[in-house]
Amino acid sequence: MTEMSTTIGLANLGNTCFLNVVLQALRLSPPLCDMFLTRKIEPRQESNKKQLLEAFQIIIRDFWRHSLPPGAKPTLNPRGFHGAFLRTIQESGDDWHRYGQQSDAAETIQYILNGLHDAMYKKVIMHVIGSVKNPEEQAYIKAIESWNVFFSKEYSPIIENYNGQTQTEVICDTCKVVSTRYEPWLMLKVPLPGGDMPNRTKLDATLTDCLNLAFADESLDDYQCDACKTKGKATIRNRISRMPDTIILTLKRFTNSMQKVGGKVVWDIEQFDFRPWMAFRGDPFNKIYVPPIYETTALIEQQGSFRGGHYRMYAKQEQQWYEYDDNDIRNVPGETATGCDAYIAFLSRKNRIESMNLQTLHHIQALRASQPIKPQAAAEA
Ligand SMILES: [Zn+2]
Repeated sequence: MTEMSTTIGLANLGNTCFLNVVLQALRLSPPLCDMFLTRKIEPRQESNKKQLLEAFQIIIRDFWRHSLPPGAKPTLNPRGFHGAFLRTIQESGDDWHRYGQQSDAAETIQYILNGLHDAMYKKVIMHVIGSVKNPEEQAYIKAIESWNVFFSKEYSPIIENYNGQTQTEVICDTCKVVSTRYEPWLMLKVPLPGGDMPNRTKLDATLTDCLNLAFADESLDDYQCDACKTKGKATIRNRISRMPDTIILTLKRFTNSMQKVGGKVVWDIEQFDFRPWMAFRGDPFNKIYVPPIYETTALIEQQGSFRGGHYRMYAKQEQQWYEYDDNDIRNVPGETATGCDAYIAFLSRKNRIESMNLQTLHHIQALRASQPIKPQAAAEA
């Protein structure tokens, strides 16, 4: 067993499997290792998410600081983080989760990452450099400018590493003039075909079907066009204009009436190509174009109903898949992981994975050599 494949369980503190799978998935996500293993982050003093960030840094380091003997089945007690998580929710007045309650893992990821962002953000100055050679590059400028408007006052490594952006074009059917806007997202949320049908409990779909549905053209009947000053039909087209190196993808398994849509969604775990849903042939945000082809590195599965379910997480560490079920971890064949009713998937850009993992490995080695933070909850071997 090498450093990267350290498997360590988390004690269940009473309906906390939703939080355990989220913590496991986040601590295995290379950008968060880069942020939290390398140096102690001083939270922004005005942020009401300070203690969440401090507790997160402690638990991420606790996960990685121990060298484990082969065959060890260690369990970490996440009570320090759990307490800070509950206090943050209570003290911030973010009334979405109560102690002892089962909660939604996607909402939890969003809450933790938004909280870390809040405790870390800084004002930045963003410049657009280079010259425009064609209409596509003209559009790049608009995508970057919109990004600046959203984030220049509040920028963080969370935004840099996890946020994507969608381009929305509204095309007037009368004069064909296109009006464009851009919006950022933290998680890519995709619907399931037929997921809005009442009593739909099974499906057999591909991720391609889900993305086709998410990015299908919509039509507007009463669009007020600024160009031709008429009111009439228009077409809305959504495409992805920015893809981060790590994507957190959520399959909308819960209908508006909180009914669960079960069943498998199939895709190529080794390499999934997002090019059909991209706005541009190039990349406005990176000088060097790298195709948006992604490898799936972790999957979160929810079993049961909305409130009464259980969560498990599957992660690929050094070519081996592991199943994380609270304090219980086991090696599983890849088919077991990919055969689950995935709810949330973590994907990494294929040709950046190796360098991201290598960097994380350096951080882990440096952490173990220095151990600068005293653990709050020590791992019990
Ligand atoms: Zn028009």
